[in-house]
Amino acid sequence: MGQASTSQRSRVTLLQAGAVYTGNGHWLRGGGLAIAHTSAGGVIADVGSAATLRRRYPRAIIKNYGSRVLMPGFVNAHTHLELGYLADKLSWRRLAFPQWVVALMAAYPDAQSAQAVITQAVIRGRRASLAAGVTCIGDICRHHTLVRAASRHGGPRTVSFGEITALGRSRHLLTDRLAAAMGTAAARRHKRNSLLQIGLSPHAPYSVEGPALERIVAAANKAMLPLTMHLAELAAEADFLRDASGPLGRRWQVMKTLNLLDDAVPHFDGGPIRWAAAHGLLRARVPVVLAHINYADNAELDILAAGRAAVAYCPRTRHYFGHDAVAPHRWRDMLARGINVCLATDSLASSPDISVLHEAAWLFKRDPSLDPVMLIELITRRGAAALGLTGMCGQLRKGLRGDIQAYGFGAVPRSARAFAEELLAAPRPPDAVWLDGAKSTEPPGESA
Ligand SMILES: [Zn+2]
Repeated sequence: MGQASTSQRSRVTLLQAGAVYTGNGHWLRGGGLAIAHTSAGGVIADVGSAATLRRRYPRAIIKNYGSRVLMPGFVNAHTHLELGYLADKLSWRRLAFPQWVVALMAAYPDAQSAQAVITQAVIRGRRASLAAGVTCIGDICRHHTLVRAASRHGGPRTVSFGEITALGRSRHLLTDRLAAAMGTAAARRHKRNSLLQIGLSPHAPYSVEGPALERIVAAANKAMLPLTMHLAELAAEADFLRDASGPLGRRWQVMKTLNLLDDAVPHFDGGPIRWAAAHGLLRARVPVVLAHINYADNAELDILAAGRAAVAYCPRTRHYFGHDAVAPHRWRDMLARGINVCLATDSLASSPDISVLHEAAWLFKRDPSLDPVMLIELITRRGAAALGLTGMCGQLRKGLRGDIQAYGFGAVPRSARAFAEELLAAPRPPDAVWLDGAKSTEPPGESA
């Protein structure tokens, strides 16, 4: 049989637990997972009842997790670990967004301390992610070389999106900035098979011109690199695109050190979502994550639904910047139209931590009528799909990587819904986390 030959070819570990939440609402009481340790990493070879798996894999090493629940690791599709050094700057909350960006840029570490400060922030952010059960991140970085060097070993699984700006007087830097964000072809090939993949992030409609966006999308399509962009985060983006007016245009004009705007900045009347569609972002051949989409009318949601891009909704960051006071986020309308939506944290400069479980729990607290299983899907399967990693992680099924976490409860929850509800009502760190089939933390008092 297929399973038997797997156990003969490679070492197999059986994880048995009180229940397994495999994803998509499926609950397997008394279930387990068979992890095959191959030269390419730890792959889920089988999912089923613990008794059946023990029969199928008689030579496997058995690890018993008692009454704990095994579930897929969380996915945080939009964060900026390099900004972790701004964790104590949440008091900037009273600043309007353009002033907040200026404060952010003014707080960039100087050239001498940048290496240590950013490396430390990234290492700390990666540890904090794993400790919160996050086994996969979409991490946007401006200091690509530093951040990728700090992300080279261990977890979480990472799509490292190199951030690019190209507007006005900086537009001639696009070629160099694109090349730097992409890294070398050899590095891209190597990284695609490892825990670290390369992606590209055109920053935002007020820092990347339409023609530059087209070139970035074309480069991503050619090299098969996933894309992400901040889009429709601010109501002011439409004014800026139309005629460089509004708070964003004024901000660029008064920032004398940057003095970015020139007469050749193209104008677009129709708002950021039509602008992104016009420049090919919504129909790229690679996975695309649109961060925020805080502002969208029905016609714009239809445009998103006609494209292929996913939306990363960052609930606490959105609340922090006051957008909830203007209008509620339309993530449920997006889901109803077939747009993939996931939850993400954004950076520690606008969020108290980088736990996506805390984002989902925050939504659940504000609206207990939300389906708890659906909320868990937003931070597992849907996050993986947004990053183009459906064949890799986000669920516990045969053939995917062993990105797993374990939670303990007083008794084994009776259903997926009861489990999701308990986890969201009282979020906690996982007892154990596996990345690519290898354990990264040990639960106390459990053994084979
Ligand atoms: Zn962001």
